[in-house]
Amino acid sequence: MGKLTPAFICPLCSSDRLKRIPFRYRFKDRFLWGMRCNDCGLISIFPRPEPEEIREMYVADYFTGADGQTHHMTRDYLSATAVADNTSMIEFIKKHKDHGKFLEIGCATGAFLHRLQNHGFEVRGVEISEFAAGYGREKFGIDIISKPFSEDLIGHELHENEFDIVFMGDILEHLTQPLEALQIIHRILKPDGVVITKVPGTLNLISTRLAFTLYRLTGNQKTMTIPPYHLTEFMPRTLDRMFHQAGFSKVKIDQSTKHPKTITLRHSMLENMIKLAFQYPNYYLTRWFGVLGDRMMAVAGK
Ligand SMILES: [Zn+2]
Repeated sequence: MGKLTPAFICPLCSSDRLKRIPFRYRFKDRFLWGMRCNDCGLISIFPRPEPEEIREMYVADYFTGADGQTHHMTRDYLSATAVADNTSMIEFIKKHKDHGKFLEIGCATGAFLHRLQNHGFEVRGVEISEFAAGYGREKFGIDIISKPFSEDLIGHELHENEFDIVFMGDILEHLTQPLEALQIIHRILKPDGVVITKVPGTLNLISTRLAFTLYRLTGNQKTMTIPPYHLTEFMPRTLDRMFHQAGFSKVKIDQSTKHPKTITLRHSMLENMIKLAFQYPNYYLTRWFGVLGDRMMAVAGK
């Protein structure tokens, strides 16, 4: 493959030595490819969707639609969050801080913040979708900033050394500049503040590693037809590196694997069977040894 255009720059280490992996999205009239950085290993999607396309991806339909093929989830967001059991996450948060100023980035309708408020936290949210933010303000009375999470918020809506806890659940992989987001979080956290981040790690699974090896050997690739919501595919190593690069010194990453009965199957029947067959041993390997997980939770402090 020839040299890539300089517009493809690794969002973690700024290298331009990116190489295609056998994974792409068919998005509108073009393909967006998974590319691995030769220098730091981060996998990102290039070319990026245009800013206007990203806005379109998160209009009301993202929160109210569901079918697993064209949407992000198999259950629509509003009904999923209305019944979500966040008890274990709330317990986890309280182990780190049992009160204080709490910010959720990508809070959607603020359903989780609403529950946390009842546990004594002073909560605020940031949400790019005006639809979801408006819904949350009206239904739960939560203070939700409906702007992109950017440096422009500091000194206006948000302040340096303001928060005890910043939480991001399945958001970092959606952002065009994930490192910048972590750098902003570092600034708005108090000196003893904690950031808690959950990200998917699908490419870390045994089945995905095997599939990618087969695709590479046969010259094929996986083509996704859902919109390119995830612009970064994290592995434990690259997630850890990104936190350190953003200035965090205490970083802990825990891996887990979804139980085989709870995974989303959106591929061909053969692919689904292989995925299921591998998910069982994978599930136990992650439980016993903390490796090869398809979910990662990073907890970091300054
Ligand atoms: Zn890199």
